[in-house]
Amino acid sequence: MADLGEVDQVDVDAFTAIKLRCIAYSIGSILLGIGLSSIWVVAGIVVILAGVVLLCIVVPWSPNAEETPKNSNSALSRAVVLIDEFMRSSFLLLNSLAQKGYHAWQEKRERAKKAMEEQRLQEEGEKLSRLAQTQQPILDQQNREQKIIDKRQYLLQNLQDPKFPIPAISCEAELEPGEECYWYHVGAVFASDGDLRGPQSSIGTLILTDQRIVFCNKDGYAPELSIEHIIQIQANADELRISGKSKSATGAYWTQDIILFEAFLRAAIRVAKDVYAPQPEGSRSRHIAESVKRKVFKRDKGQCVYCGWREELHFDHVIPFSRGGANTIENIQLLCKRCNLTKSDDI
Ligand SMILES: [Zn+2]
Repeated sequence: MADLGEVDQVDVDAFTAIKLRCIAYSIGSILLGIGLSSIWVVAGIVVILAGVVLLCIVVPWSPNAEETPKNSNSALSRAVVLIDEFMRSSFLLLNSLAQKGYHAWQEKRERAKKAMEEQRLQEEGEKLSRLAQTQQPILDQQNREQKIIDKRQYLLQNLQDPKFPIPAISCEAELEPGEECYWYHVGAVFASDGDLRGPQSSIGTLILTDQRIVFCNKDGYAPELSIEHIIQIQANADELRISGKSKSATGAYWTQDIILFEAFLRAAIRVAKDVYAPQPEGSRSRHIAESVKRKVFKRDKGQCVYCGWREELHFDHVIPFSRGGANTIENIQLLCKRCNLTKSDDI
């Protein structure tokens, strides 16, 4: 009866309630420990172990088992209150720790993310600037090359136009006063057909002006051909064959851009023909070629040859057109309106 009496002292419902509560606490503890271990490994493991130990102790409990604490209802009630209180404060503590840890972890992660993003941006920027640095010279080079190509195309088109003033360049060669240089190439090659005294082919400087073609090498060999004396020019892939009244300058010329050189030469020949060609009978006109006007204007320095006046200028025939005066440079001069009228009166 004594055994039964002791068993009777245990309130089975209260006992079951405590056991379930303890199992719930241990499972909660294990779950919390798993969560905590992702932030703070040691604490997480400790909490998991505590949960496991509690579970191991609580599961074998039964109202009649020997190892189960056998107390009165009031003792069990006190135990429940104590365990509840202990577990509640433990969970609150763990909860606040976990929250703190979680926030710290979150901040750390944010910082790491930010740092990574900054580094990525910096690396990307460096990569871009490196790329730009390596690309820029290539782009500049392409730009320059394109400009040269465009300029060449522009010249090739416009040199065919009789009204287009042939662009002159400055050159180191000694030229006649007023002589304009169109082509200057150090490192050209000339192979003469006619001049047996000269070398077969020679490297030197090729100069094209509005009056002549000159080729000179360092030995002082300098065949020369007047533009007006050119008889024929013929361009091949890499050389320009020029024949003229001077045997020494007749031969093959090689220069950096044969096609462009030929365009300059043809333009120079056209201008020279305008300037020097005698007016064919029957087609006589007062019209003075633009090329002649340009040369006269330049020769007379843009002012009246009598008084130096710079306004209301006219191109005047020295020997009047009506008396057979030609439209050539030699017969045209620059006069102001007043001097032109005075001259007419004198004649
Ligand atoms: Zn005048």
